[in-house]
Amino acid sequence: MSIEHLKNSIRNIPNFPIQGIQFKDVTTLFKSAENLNELTAILKKKYADKGITKVVGIESRGFIMGPIMAVELGAGFVPVRKPGKLPSEVFEEQYEKEYGHDAVQIHKDALCPNDIVLIHDDLLATGGTMLATYELIKKIGVKKVYINFLIELEDLNGRLLFPKEVEVEALIKYEK
Ligand code: AMP
Repeated sequence: MSIEHLKNSIRNIPNFPIQGIQFKDVTTLFKSAENLNELTAILKKKYADKGITKVVGIESRGFIMGPIMAVELGAGFVPVRKPGKLPSEVFEEQYEKEYGHDAVQIHKDALCPNDIVLIHDDLLATGGTMLATYELIKKIGVKKVYINFLIELEDLNGRLLFPKEVEVEALIKYEK
């Protein structure tokens, strides 16, 4: 199975949730057992030799492949969530969105200095959500960070936000 086949399984919904957005619906990608197996195999191969100890998934679509990757890599899973969802003490990072602010939170005791972390989300658009998560994890201080997306909207140049030394990977790319 090719990346092109996986890409063709993603449904495009024009003007959702607001006018002008081409929403990439990953439910049509995940509902196929073959796709899910193939995605898992590709991601496992990509990160198997990196010594990943924790996969950090971003709410909410990062909670689908995130835990699958954690199991495949023999790592733990850590959720990054919107404010007010995590029950214990948290660190928070605020960020600007197209309209207004948002924030991401992580439990203070979720990561250790020796962790090698793979941060995962389904899609890279402007990069604001992932940058805030990356900053949050840098503040906690871990050994190394990798960043993974299933999908990248290349024309938004989100990857330029990240330092050169951080490996940012996306499987499926859209130019426009
Ligand atoms: P950003 O912070 O702009 O990179 O936006 C990334 C987050 O918003 C991810 O968690 C995505 O799930 C979601 N998102 C942004 N744009 C889209 C889109 N066109 N299709 C699907 N999800 C999107």
